[in-house]
Amino acid sequence: MPVDLYQKYGLSEKEVTEWAKTKYPQFLKNKTVLAQLYLKQVRKVQLTDEDIAIMRGPVKKINELKPGQWVIIEAVVGPKLRENSYNGCPICFKKLEGEFCEICGKVEPIVCWFDSYVVGDNTGDIIATFGPKLANSRKSFEGTVLRLRGVLGDQGEFLVNAIEPLEEGRKELVEKKAEVDAQAEVNLVKEIFEKFPVLRYEDLQKWHSSRGLSTNLDELLAKAPLFKWPDGTVRKEAPTSTSPVAPQLLLIQEEVEKMKKVLEMFPEVDLDSLKIYYTQEKFKTPLEALLKAAGCVIDDKGKVRKVS
Ligand SMILES: [Zn+2]
Repeated sequence: MPVDLYQKYGLSEKEVTEWAKTKYPQFLKNKTVLAQLYLKQVRKVQLTDEDIAIMRGPVKKINELKPGQWVIIEAVVGPKLRENSYNGCPICFKKLEGEFCEICGKVEPIVCWFDSYVVGDNTGDIIATFGPKLANSRKSFEGTVLRLRGVLGDQGEFLVNAIEPLEEGRKELVEKKAEVDAQAEVNLVKEIFEKFPVLRYEDLQKWHSSRGLSTNLDELLAKAPLFKWPDGTVRKEAPTSTSPVAPQLLLIQEEVEKMKKVLEMFPEVDLDSLKIYYTQEKFKTPLEALLKAAGCVIDDKGKVRKVS
């Protein structure tokens, strides 16, 4: 367990929190980091290795992470999702406007980086953000198996402050577990289809990239199994010429509006004519669903009418 800095240096939580409120509002839940910053910046204390306790802390699984708790996770690093840079202090990496750092004095600013990766263990995936201390080397961590020390931030990302390669034996274990993870991704997509049996492929793509899943979407769908339909949707059933549609899930509001307008102009249009228009406009929402949403019925003469 990390040393209790409050006890060791006689700090009161109140004074540290008060000081941090304006300076580090993002770390308020993390008493240890606040104490470290406060000791360094306000009391000008030279912290010992023990005070910093880089790779110490309980080892946790990804699904056990709680905001503000410093822990170690053992995980496989997946694809890099994004990178951000800013001009910062070469010593403390604080973001700078000019050449003056309020902690370190006059400095020559450098480009500082934040890289975010998907990392996973057998309990789940999370986005892990590597700060300038690790990311400024511009080394890619993709595909490595690491012990990562960090804290779950308010945005649900794991903020990494130190890493250590994992010993060979444990590495294999984590890698094996990551394979199990691929199955977890398949289960995840299956669960979604339990709730929403019909989804648009393009929405699934957005969901897939926002979740940063490591298995590609088509592979996941094939494993589930789920089927891509010619109308751009994905469903649990394989497409057949007589498959019924599930209207309410496929509505595209723009298309409903467009259809309403047409039906206002032609209040008694033939279904056949409407079908030609429907095909020409390359609507994605099934016609039946569109008509229903536009408040129309097909009468016994094959005319589409609005019911008000
Ligand atoms: Zn600085």
